[in-house]
Amino acid sequence: MWVRVLAGVVALALLLGGCRRPVAEEPSVTGPGGDGEAARPDWGKWGLEALRPAPPPPQDKPLKLGGKGPVKVFSKVPTKDRVVFVTIDDGQEKDPKFVEMLKDLRVPVSMFLTDGNVRDDYGYFKPIQALGNHIQNHTLTHPVMSHLGPDGQRQEICGTQKSLTRQYGTVPKLFRPPFGMWSSATQEAARECGIQGIVLWTASTQIHDMQYDDPNKKLHDGDVLLAHFRGPKQLKGESMTKMFAEMLKRIRRQGFAVARLEDYISFR
Ligand SMILES: [Zn+2]
Repeated sequence: MWVRVLAGVVALALLLGGCRRPVAEEPSVTGPGGDGEAARPDWGKWGLEALRPAPPPPQDKPLKLGGKGPVKVFSKVPTKDRVVFVTIDDGQEKDPKFVEMLKDLRVPVSMFLTDGNVRDDYGYFKPIQALGNHIQNHTLTHPVMSHLGPDGQRQEICGTQKSLTRQYGTVPKLFRPPFGMWSSATQEAARECGIQGIVLWTASTQIHDMQYDDPNKKLHDGDVLLAHFRGPKQLKGESMTKMFAEMLKRIRRQGFAVARLEDYISFR
């Protein structure tokens, strides 16, 4: 029985976006008594057996950033693909099970990290990055940006650019303002720090549900979803991995696949 379920998970991982590992390397298919079989969570039991595969990334990117003028602010991507994009903010929680989940299911995510939340363990996010997921900017200290002057805003954004680039070897191109609050001064600071887009969201995960901009509580093509690296301490005992699984089920039930946000954007 477990072999069938695990085989299903492997097939799912392949479906979900080109698992590049040969199947033989999966510890979960070594057969009864094989090493590691018990170590792998059974995602089928989590209700994640039938996620939809994302279409290939579009050749002609529907969102173009980095032009002249103020940094563009967006909360969804103008696409007709039946996809949504998952972004994960902050970074207090570093659940090892979540890394396994992403490795197995290959759900693409964009990580908007707050330097102050991740500096105790930058390494946690590296295996997630190694799956092809991008690291983006979510400030040093998570302030309300409009409470800061231009210098303060610049410090928050540029300081994070510097730190995350040093840690992860890539320069963030997107910025998410804490609490989704921004002003023209934020756009200006972002531009000066090399940011090409400010990303808001259209739906967010709650502990046991989702909150939608749409009063009909529905997802739409190109929606950007907000989740958090937050754990039991911030979530009344709930794990972020469970919460993430709930979100994936809701995405699947509404007939969407998860695509990679950066694949739909043309940067300067
Ligand atoms: Zn945040």
